[in-house]
Amino acid sequence: MAIVVSSEAAARAVVVSSKDAEREVDIPVKLVIDKEKKRVVFAEADGDFADILFSFLTLPMGTIIRLLAQHSDQSKQLNIGNFNTLCSSVKNLDAKYFVTDVSKDLLTNTRNLADYECRRLRINIDDTKPAQHFVCQNLDCIVDQDLPSLSTCNIAKCRRCGDYLKTPINFLDDMRENNSGVFFAQTASFIITDALNVFPNTMGSTFEILEMAGVSDFGVLEETTLQFGSHEILELLKCSLFSKTPLSDMVFGEKDIVKDIVLIPSFQCRISTEHIYGFINMTVNVLVQKSTKKILLAQTAEDFVEFLFGFLAMPLGRIISFLGESFSSDGTVENLHNSLPNLDVGRYFKFDELRQILLYPEVDYGSYHSLYFRKEWSRDFYYTSRRESSYEEDTFHLTREGGPVMKIEHPKEYLRGPKMFLVTDDLIVTPFSSMSCITYLHSLKVSPGDVEEHQINIGPEEALNLLRACMISTSVLNNGLGSLQVF
Ligand SMILES: [Zn+2]
Repeated sequence: MAIVVSSEAAARAVVVSSKDAEREVDIPVKLVIDKEKKRVVFAEADGDFADILFSFLTLPMGTIIRLLAQHSDQSKQLNIGNFNTLCSSVKNLDAKYFVTDVSKDLLTNTRNLADYECRRLRINIDDTKPAQHFVCQNLDCIVDQDLPSLSTCNIAKCRRCGDYLKTPINFLDDMRENNSGVFFAQTASFIITDALNVFPNTMGSTFEILEMAGVSDFGVLEETTLQFGSHEILELLKCSLFSKTPLSDMVFGEKDIVKDIVLIPSFQCRISTEHIYGFINMTVNVLVQKSTKKILLAQTAEDFVEFLFGFLAMPLGRIISFLGESFSSDGTVENLHNSLPNLDVGRYFKFDELRQILLYPEVDYGSYHSLYFRKEWSRDFYYTSRRESSYEEDTFHLTREGGPVMKIEHPKEYLRGPKMFLVTDDLIVTPFSSMSCITYLHSLKVSPGDVEEHQINIGPEEALNLLRACMISTSVLNNGLGSLQVF
């Protein structure tokens, strides 16, 4: 097998890695490239890199939009479906419509509930301020209750007494430096295809990948090493969402990054709702253009807006789990999620809980009007109490090591109601007024005689279709609801 280090690719790797000279950590990743077709056939990586790669699944959509906006050239801003517009809608909606400033902050600075893990990544690209934790100020609510309430913000309520959970509580076992890997054993070895399918690094999987990639001559293969720092990790996140060949793009430059959103006319597939639990149906009034049967806008109460805003708090892996096979992106990030069953607990995952975190990432959002799994999974937080002296009261600390368990509570309401909102097809949300509605219709050049109002019931199927539509198009109401309704 003639595998040699390609001077051209190696030179490029050096150029890429010198972009950010001040960074502290680089992770070397070996890439096997097809020098004739100028593509990466596969990468070989250890647990440190796999930890970072799979942590993409835990990032909330709002965080991904924010990170990519900071990372990308302003003129080349990439839109993930309609999420960028949804982000702007939250930012532009006056704070007075939210229950508190914290409610708005939870949606504009979305937080990763796998933060405890991700802060121990060798390179953590998420610069969001970590969540604090709060408990009830009434100590009896902690000691006298099974599963006492814990929150990641100070506006959720205690299940026992109904007071706000506003007493800060810290971790006893600090986020100490841990050299044993995050999700995976650090010494585990992985093989990663150009399309981000991840397999155990075995001879069998290597030859299977070579065959799938159509490599018939070992002579075309060369090995090179790419140093990944935070700049490259952000670039990989971007490529995983927008390219079918993310690793090749990293080495040979972007080839087919999708610059514009591809609009899809209607849904071809039905989405399974069997794993959705406890969804509270809503109704929205939509204005439909009679001549085109298109939804022009919706007039809704705050419940539907809270539901839409909740998309931003959803981690990417959670959306992939909700949508299953009907998930699609311009990139290959779903292949990471689909690779999780390939990797055993023990040999690869350190614990099963860590695989659950990636399969069904928890969401830092708790509106009544949100999507929840039938088997919603959440990690245990334990607590312990200490008394420094006999004159002092107990002080409580969180711990990851075991002890009585606490249960996370989220605020249930984010927007002040009752309030009506106007929601456009691309999810620009503004307070409703008749004149704003008329002005908007006039801007669309729609005549008054060409519109009619319909009421739509939003159940689990419509909810999932809206989520999917938001992921892949800017015509969210029409793609999410239009194909299901007969106007
Ligand atoms: Zn209480």
